[in-house]
Amino acid sequence: MTPITTFFRNLEAKCCAACGQTIHEQAESYANECSDCQEKMSYDAYKYYHLKK
Ligand SMILES: [Zn+2]
Repeated sequence: MTPITTFFRNLEAKCCAACGQTIHEQAESYANECSDCQEKMSYDAYKYYHLKK
């Protein structure tokens, strides 16, 4: 039986969840976003946190 879900999960893990571009960095395997989107989201979260306060 072919573990097709694992195959697609692996494909998914190699693409940015936010912009869909291929993630080249393998250092942080838990990351679902590319470094650009991670930076952007971190900055957005940072802004949101400080705007909220
Ligand atoms: Zn991205």
